[in-house]
Amino acid sequence: MSFPTIKRVLLKLSGEVLMGNQQFGIDPEFVAELAQEVKAAKETGLEICLVIGGGNIFRGMAGAAKGMDRAQADYMGMLATVMNALAMQNALEQCGVPTRVQSAIEMDKVCEPVIRRRAERHLEKGRVVIFAAGVGAPYFTTDSGAALRAAEMKCDALLKGTSVDGVYDSDPKHNPDAVRFDTVTYDRVLADNLKVMDASAVALCRDNKIPIVVFSIREKGNLARVLAGGGVQTIVQDS
Ligand code: UDP
Repeated sequence: MSFPTIKRVLLKLSGEVLMGNQQFGIDPEFVAELAQEVKAAKETGLEICLVIGGGNIFRGMAGAAKGMDRAQADYMGMLATVMNALAMQNALEQCGVPTRVQSAIEMDKVCEPVIRRRAERHLEKGRVVIFAAGVGAPYFTTDSGAALRAAEMKCDALLKGTSVDGVYDSDPKHNPDAVRFDTVTYDRVLADNLKVMDASAVALCRDNKIPIVVFSIREKGNLARVLAGGGVQTIVQDS
């Protein structure tokens, strides 16, 4: 894949990267650093859609594991993603990047609802659009939300910024001999159940031919390096 041909990206950040070195919640200093990364990427001329997870605050599965009703817990998780979106909006605007938050669960006192045509207009005007609350339904994740928004906004790539530097053939946290792929196909990811994104997100990207670029957002400057074609990453694509 040639990065210079990319005009519009969807950047998915897992909620846990907003924690910085904390165990929980939002570290405003770290969010400010992430905002600088997004600003630098935007200054290269890219149009940027953002999706942020909620795992630093609440995950529905964790609530369900402790006896909560899964759907109820998932709605709490979706609300967590809105908090993260507002934190990132604040950080981006403090460094001079205009943004809009659009939520799949309407809450008109704090953000806009998801309206594709309006989001298009925001991007044309140079705003970063942060999509919150995933797909707006329980039993999904923000990975699926990211794939959905990447498809409807016709993004050229889905960049998944996370705490590992790509996709491995086994879990690098448990297996020191795990090997990182430079590229891997959607079908291999699905067949081998490789930990990239959940299966529905990967399938949606495959069906819409959206490459998924998995990279570590924890290293400073890495987003810019990846976009310049020089960083460490794994690209999930057709072949
Ligand atoms: N969630 C949901 N539907 C969605 C998106 C998210 O129910 O479309 C809930 C789900 O409980 C999930 C939580 O929101 O666990 C936080 O999102 P996610 O786990 O994807 O966050 P991340 O792991 O990226 O931080």
